[in-house]
Amino acid sequence: MFENLSDRLDRSFKLLKGEGKITEINVAETLKDVRRALLDADVNFKTAKQFTETVKEKALGQNVLTAVKPGQLMVKIVHDELAELMGGTAVDISLDGNPAIILMAGLQGSGKTTFSGKLANLLKTKKGKKPLLVADDIYRPAAIEQLRILGTQIDVPVYSEDGNKNPVEIALNAIKQAKANGNDVVIIDTAGRLAIDEAMMNEIAAIKTAVKPSEILFVVDSMTGQDAVNTAKEFNDRLNFDGVILTKLDGDTRGGAALSIRSIVNKPIKFVGMGEKMDALDIFHPERMADRILG
Ligand code: GDP
Repeated sequence: MFENLSDRLDRSFKLLKGEGKITEINVAETLKDVRRALLDADVNFKTAKQFTETVKEKALGQNVLTAVKPGQLMVKIVHDELAELMGGTAVDISLDGNPAIILMAGLQGSGKTTFSGKLANLLKTKKGKKPLLVADDIYRPAAIEQLRILGTQIDVPVYSEDGNKNPVEIALNAIKQAKANGNDVVIIDTAGRLAIDEAMMNEIAAIKTAVKPSEILFVVDSMTGQDAVNTAKEFNDRLNFDGVILTKLDGDTRGGAALSIRSIVNKPIKFVGMGEKMDALDIFHPERMADRILG
């Protein structure tokens, strides 16, 4: 679909050599190729610009111009820089507290409910935990039903309250039940809207204040590309979340959203969703994502 960066850079370095004189201005030209490749991968414009600046300094420092294969060296610099930017420490999910409380946030359709199920399944099967899932969406009965179905599939209890229109109360009642039943992790799946609105933000902020989660995870659809950054920023400004879940990476997106979100909100990406099944999740690997963005 896209020409990969390596081919593109090889081509433009060849052109430069044809000119007989390689200058910093020429390097700026090849950096434009890097920027274009990032934009093709749906990296946010501002991020792509900043990133190219960093790469430029590194490239000049390593004297790409005198390298035998400048295109390849340049690709390596870009790749390493991408991986470093998206990497980082402490990507584990905090399970402090008894029960540990994990709050899920994100727009409707981002994959929150599916990921809630996947996470419960992972904690149960790999960490020997006894999770309780909470359907805290008071607007869409279908969302509650969807979580119940997932709960049955993975054999994890789901808490919901028909008729209660107070999501804070539902969350607090769920925690009470978890304590009574010995559930050591409570995963709260909140309501999402198609677009960010004030009421949604107030609601989830109120749940946060009431339940004091040990971990707030922001779920975002990797296919939403450029929009993902704005959504992430608004949620982060309001909730100061702990980590990002990037869903639907089994699709054909190049995953530029990973880089944009990381560079703009500076929160680690913890897991990626790789399908609809309950075991279709992966720990986030910065190196793999760098490969994917470069194509
Ligand atoms: P929510 O509204 O945020 O709770 O989103 P859902 O969990 O209901 O997900 C919306 C749609 O995306 C559903 O059809 C899911 O099956 C699907 N979905 C969620 N995660 C993934 C994923 O990682 N890959 C794919 N292909 N589909 C996903």
